[in-house]
Amino acid sequence: MKIVDGADDICQTCPHLKAGVCTRPGENIQALDRRVLARLSLKQGDFADWFELRERVRAGVRPGDLAGLCGGCRWRSLNFCAEGLEQLAAGSQDG
Ligand code: SF4
Repeated sequence: MKIVDGADDICQTCPHLKAGVCTRPGENIQALDRRVLARLSLKQGDFADWFELRERVRAGVRPGDLAGLCGGCRWRSLNFCAEGLEQLAAGSQDG
């Protein structure tokens, strides 16, 4: 998987994507992505597989980190990421 700090494959069919850039008002995905990548000691253009990424997240991110690390993300309040991190720390994530 190639690491990017900005619009990714998931964004490709989004109506907010214009010329490869997210234009959704209030969305600053590049700043969010760069904070997370720095935490994981990764940068734009790196390559990593799923298992390596999962291990970096398990070792480097705790649920309590999300407020600072992912501040501004619209999805954070749904708590999916915090729950996933708790499961990962407990060793109950498959795949
Ligand atoms: S809103 Fe922006 S970050 Fe979200 S899917 Fe669309 S282009 Fe990607």
